[in-house]
Amino acid sequence: MASTSARGKTALERYREQLRETERCGSCGTAETAGEWTTRYRDGRLVYRRVCPRCGAIERREFRIG
Ligand SMILES: [Zn+2]
Repeated sequence: MASTSARGKTALERYREQLRETERCGSCGTAETAGEWTTRYRDGRLVYRRVCPRCGAIERREFRIG
């Protein structure tokens, strides 16, 4: 079960962690109602999307692959 190690992190894994740490809504600034990031693959990019459950603001991030 040693599929992930601290050393063998890919850029994508690090990016995901960054997103997870971004719990504060960019619009209303609340940190307590962190929504779930949903992922979609599109045109060689991963598109992350999150809707703030409090104010409804949509945050979008893109991660280019390759
Ligand atoms: Zn918000």
